[in-house]
Amino acid sequence: RVKEKGKAHFQFYRSEMNSILKNVVEMETLLRKAIERDELSLHYQPQVDLLTKRVNSFEALLRWNNQVLGPISPGEFIPLAEDTGLIIPIGNWVVDTACKQIHEWSEKYKQDLRIAINISPKQFQQYNLLKIIQKSIEKYRINPKLLEIEITEGAMQDTTDTAPILSRLKDLGVSISVDDFGTGYSSLNYLKQFPIDVLKIDQSFVKDVLTYDKDAAITTTIIHLGRSLGVEVIAEGVENEEQAHFLLNAKCHKAQGYLYSKPLPPAEIEKNFLEEFYIK
Ligand code: C2E
Ligand code: MG
Ligand code: MG
Ligand code: MG
Repeated sequence: RVKEKGKAHFQFYRSEMNSILKNVVEMETLLRKAIERDELSLHYQPQVDLLTKRVNSFEALLRWNNQVLGPISPGEFIPLAEDTGLIIPIGNWVVDTACKQIHEWSEKYKQDLRIAINISPKQFQQYNLLKIIQKSIEKYRINPKLLEIEITEGAMQDTTDTAPILSRLKDLGVSISVDDFGTGYSSLNYLKQFPIDVLKIDQSFVKDVLTYDKDAAITTTIIHLGRSLGVEVIAEGVENEEQAHFLLNAKCHKAQGYLYSKPLPPAEIEKNFLEEFYIK
């Protein structure tokens, strides 16, 4: 009896494992075809100047809407893309699409609108990442400073891959920001080594900035650090006016979060954040 039960249990476990594996394999197969099937898109989230309340920069966030699985969040498919190497073609698509968007908005609104794209550590192992970015900048004849590269401290850990690429990107005129700042390792050393333009305070600190002294202290310190280094400081995950008020008082430059807008498709960004300036 015990044996039987064990067997049944094992089979249950195995079939569950199989379905998980099947899902991953299936998702990989579908993700592989996502670009050609036109299932990827970029949504944009405004970054609001806390003093002027104006918006002149956005973060591009990748969206995948598969016809079978429906919308899948980046938290699910980005790790898969990184593990399978698919992050390379997908990342290249993001670079091209963001540069195209910068071109379109520059033409249409005749003002400097900056777009930040997320670059995962794996992409820095791609020998021609620099070429890819350079080609898209030239293809759409955009001002390189309007393209911003968001990297995490994880990418900066491998300095041999990352440091030369970042300094070449800097030479090109591309802006560089550190995403999720404060959640990785030896951040201060990286700030010294890399040519950083923007620090993004991780949303985990911003979340409890009003209720936890430690989060308040860390947030204030990051803002001071950024200001002392002469870099722009952007707070992520700002969801209410009280947080925004705290950040303004602490002299944080910009804020990004649901308080202002969730990430939106380009047409809605235009309607909500750009048309107003267009008319003026
Ligand atoms: P991230 O770069 O740190 O992006 C911020 C995440 O916080 C986004 O989630 C955004 O939608 C979400 N967010 C924005 N405002 C708020 C808020 O007020 N409250 C809360 N709770 N969340 C907010 P999303 O779009 O699901 O992206 C998750 C992560 O996936 C990103 O974190 C980034 O690491 C990665 N990712 C997204 N797009 C790309 C891409 O094109 N390439 C790469 N390599 N990674 C990407
Ligand atoms: Mg980001
Ligand atoms: Mg972040
Ligand atoms: Mg993140």
